[in-house]
Amino acid sequence: SPRLNQAMGIDGNTILAESLKKQGVEYVFGIVGIPVIETALAFQSAGLKYVGMRNEQAACYAAQAVGYLTGKPGVCLAVSGPGLLHCIGGMANAQVNCWPLIVIAGSCPQDHEGIGGFQEWPQVESSRLYCKYAARPPSPRLIPLHVEKAVRLAASGRPGVSYLDMPGTLLMAEADEDKVPMDFYNAPPVALAHPNPALVSQAADLLAKAERPLIIVGKGAAHARAEEEICKLVENTKLPFLPTPMGKGVVPDESEYCVSTARTQALLKADVILLLGARLNWMLHFGQQPRFAPDVKVIQVDISPEEFHNSIKSEVAVHSDIKPFTAALTQKLAEKKFSLQPASNNWWQGLQQKQKANTEFVQAQANNKTLPLNYFAVFKAVQANIPKDSIIVSEGANTMDIGRGMLLNNKPRHRLDAGTFGTMGVGPGFAVAAAMWCRDYAPEKRVICVEGDSAFGFSGMEIETMFRYKLPVVIVIVNNSGIYSGFPKDVMEDIQSGGDIAQCTPPTALSCEIKYEKMMEIFGESGHLCRTVEEIEAALKKALAVTDKPSIINILIDPSSNRKPQTFNWLTESKL
Ligand code: ADP
Ligand code: MG
Repeated sequence: SPRLNQAMGIDGNTILAESLKKQGVEYVFGIVGIPVIETALAFQSAGLKYVGMRNEQAACYAAQAVGYLTGKPGVCLAVSGPGLLHCIGGMANAQVNCWPLIVIAGSCPQDHEGIGGFQEWPQVESSRLYCKYAARPPSPRLIPLHVEKAVRLAASGRPGVSYLDMPGTLLMAEADEDKVPMDFYNAPPVALAHPNPALVSQAADLLAKAERPLIIVGKGAAHARAEEEICKLVENTKLPFLPTPMGKGVVPDESEYCVSTARTQALLKADVILLLGARLNWMLHFGQQPRFAPDVKVIQVDISPEEFHNSIKSEVAVHSDIKPFTAALTQKLAEKKFSLQPASNNWWQGLQQKQKANTEFVQAQANNKTLPLNYFAVFKAVQANIPKDSIIVSEGANTMDIGRGMLLNNKPRHRLDAGTFGTMGVGPGFAVAAAMWCRDYAPEKRVICVEGDSAFGFSGMEIETMFRYKLPVVIVIVNNSGIYSGFPKDVMEDIQSGGDIAQCTPPTALSCEIKYEKMMEIFGESGHLCRTVEEIEAALKKALAVTDKPSIINILIDPSSNRKPQTFNWLTESKL
């Protein structure tokens, strides 16, 4: 038992575990070692679910994904020094994505500090830059207070990261059980922030007068669980909407009002934009020219007022939770009897023309089954053969970009990808979290983890975690033998024979046609290698029939397959 035997004593591990449980934490992902082995055992004794992973970075990605999926922060547990430092990339990713996360790391005993303790490192200072809150509880009796604060800061306002540092001496320290204030922190949930009614009226007036209005739905709207309100707004007003990558599914991608297939045009021409839980950062081209009209008027709705007028000045800035704001706006627009008529409205007609042209291009590519396959043909086959309510995890360059358009989400919070920080290596960790959540809350639902071959390499060993916890994740690797793109075998051999191997091997190249599916064999199973559409279909059917272990479908595609030519080469544009 983690609890030490002395009468009336309760140790730091137990206080930490019970405090997290009382704060509503449900899932912990981590890797144990000195001094947190007993901590993980105490977590399990307290009724928390603990998932042991293979790299702290992946564990940290898993914990933040569970936070986004459930709205309650997940915990990442790590050892001291290197363990905590491996979490840093994950902490930054959560902080940049505005996802709730708590990281807890053991640290070296306090009496070894300053004299070269084992894995000694200034962990609180190291975490500060990646956190809303970073602290070391000064004594066992104060652990509940710091846990309450860590959970509150991670989850409320704009969500983010909290870090708690737990020296081995603190985890093992004893406190008098009846002197540990376990109940002081039963704070009621914070009531949703409602919008100022005058601002709702201004927003409604602006939209009603607009010639080319557009709604942008971001992952803040997904986090706000505002799907019901936003669907009603769209249905009532017939306004065109654009989801951001992880805003996909708040309103179904298959909605007739979704204009993703005319994204560039919609952004460029809109005169009034209702921005619901998205930031005008690189993903939305900063809201600036040349991607937006110079005089576009933005109605910005955010829980975080610090975000207002960032990059461009908003016409109306509403500090509110998205749920009550959208409900109030829908009502105001109904009072005005506002609704577009897509069949006769010029703006809608222009968008629909563009949608038609872009869809034709994509369909032509998707119907091209020439071998080796192109991305579009692969995604058409995947989309046609997976359940429509699957959680789609996706990362990679072209794999993620092209897949975003072709793999549809009709439910909110059903897409997890490289996100605002563009982080590669998140996929397997996200998939572990999503599959754990599905098992507990939606056992029929499947997790499809669509990985570029390079992206998969970052955290591929988490396949073992999926086996150990019997998680039926379907891993689809879209394998072009490289980063962005690779080379055919004969070309690669030619290039590498041309001189010093480290000088002539292209930095974007990976080994040709790696048989990733054979990773299944180390678990006594077999995977799927596909080159054709028919093989992809057959492999998906088999993989989806498996319900107690992961599958790997390795799809070898044309190493030079690429995206649709883009109107703007945004990442290399400069304003300097
Ligand atoms: P995307 O990547 O989809 O563009 P971002 O992560 O850039 O989305 O932006 C999400 C925004 O949503 C953040 O500015 C965040 O403060 C905001 N947000 C998060 N939760 C809520 C909420 N409940 N109500 C309103 N805004 C929210
Ligand atoms: Mg690749």
